[in-house]
Amino acid sequence: MSFRVQRAIAPLAFALLASQPLLAAPAPTPAGATGFRLGTLQLFALRDMDNVVPNDGSVFGVGVPKPEVSKVLQQAHAPTDRISLSVDALLVRMPGHVVLLDTGLGPKIGGSLMASLAAAHVRPEDVTDILITHSHGDHVGGLATRDGALAFPKATIRMSATEWSYMQAKGSKALVETIRAKVQPFKPGAEVVPGITSVPLPGHTPGHSGYEIRSGNARLLDIGDSAHSSIISLARPDWTIEYDGNGAQGRANRKALLAKLAADHERIFAPHFPYPGVGFVEKTGEGSYRWAPALPR
Ligand SMILES: [Zn+2]
Repeated sequence: MSFRVQRAIAPLAFALLASQPLLAAPAPTPAGATGFRLGTLQLFALRDMDNVVPNDGSVFGVGVPKPEVSKVLQQAHAPTDRISLSVDALLVRMPGHVVLLDTGLGPKIGGSLMASLAAAHVRPEDVTDILITHSHGDHVGGLATRDGALAFPKATIRMSATEWSYMQAKGSKALVETIRAKVQPFKPGAEVVPGITSVPLPGHTPGHSGYEIRSGNARLLDIGDSAHSSIISLARPDWTIEYDGNGAQGRANRKALLAKLAADHERIFAPHFPYPGVGFVEKTGEGSYRWAPALPR
């Protein structure tokens, strides 16, 4: 996701982190760590920041008449002048590994991830593996401290080889140099940590990846930015979202993924759905879905 910024400090800070403009909510987002079990694993949804996008056709429903977008929001009993998103990360504790999936916006933008991590009783130096869905600033910004050092000094940083190439070409040069020695790129689709397999979902960015976490018969897919709004992206996955680098590929992937998730009744984590972002996709009609949260807010 990328945002347009309301806070004065954010545009410059975010420009250092990624190639896209960013919008942060004006008030700091409180820390949050919501724990849940997946088989024998302990997971936490970690809150980083809230974000609000105006319903003006600039991001959601690009090229769609505004009343149509408003109607979708209204049907979900949501405000029609704005679209509320969250920025969250996911933590998985397993024997021998403490795995963080994405890192939020980072301290320069005022993200709450570190405080949320502390609420889950995890120190930055405890994190062994970081799995990056893609290299936009709201997912990789937290890899660096305010001073530009590694925020998780002992962690191996894993992202698809395609995404690492993309980040080196288009991402923040400073951040690329900070993390370079710690990055271990993988072939899209590879198992990256025992029990966690990458799932190639290109379109939002060229190497965008989901991650499927398995424990026994239990599984959960971190869908990354395959869908952004729990309302619009599910009701109308065929609509273009400005955040997708390749709109046609993003749409095709979103439609296919949502159909599969609904058919399989697979539990997901969606970083931009309302915190804690864990739940299911339910089919409501042909090519149309709705969000069924599995954990209380
Ligand atoms: Zn995002």
